[in-house]
Amino acid sequence: MRVDWETEICVIGGGPAGSTIACRLGLFGHKVLLVEKHDFPRTHVGESLSPAILPLLDALGVRERIQTERFLRPDQALIRWRNQTSYI
Ligand SMILES: Cc1cc2nc3c(=O)[nH]c(=O)nc-3n(C[C@H](O)[C@H](O)[C@H](O)COP(=O)(O)OP(=O)(O)OC[C@H]3O[C@@H](n4cnc5c(N)ncnc54)[C@H](O)[C@@H]3O)c2cc1C
Repeated sequence: MRVDWETEICVIGGGPAGSTIACRLGLFGHKVLLVEKHDFPRTHVGESLSPAILPLLDALGVRERIQTERFLRPDQALIRWRNQTSYI
C-alpha cells in the first residue's frame, strides 16, 4: 500500500528518543510525522526509571501520568563508562 504524506519533519522510530523529539517538535509547532515499524504497545525491556529522567518528563508534561504507572523507583543510578563511575 502506498500512502502519500506531506510533513515538515519525519522522525523514524517511536521509542523514548523518537517519541520525545517528535512530541517536543510538535509542541514547538512543527508538523511532524513519527514512523514506527512495530505496533504499540510493543514488547520491550525495561522496568525502572532513573531519577535523572524526571526533568525531561516534566518538560514533556507526562511526569504525573508516568509516575502513576508501576515502575521501580531507584534513588539513583550507577553509570560505569570505561574507567569512570558516577551516580545520577
Ligand atoms: C536489557 C535492557 C534493559 C533495559 N532496562 C531499562 C530500564 O529498566 N530502564 C530504562 O530507563 N532503560 C532501560 N533500558 C534502556 C532503554 O531500553 C533504552 O535506553 C531506550 O529504549 C532507548 O530508546 P531509543 O528511543 O533510543 O531506542 P528504542 O527504544 O530501541 O526505540 C527505537 C524504535 O525505533 C523503531 N525502529 C527501528 N528501525 C525502524 C525503521 N526502519 N522504521 C520504523 N521504526 C523503526 C523500533 O521499532 C523502536 O520502537 C534497557 C535496555 C536493555 C537492552
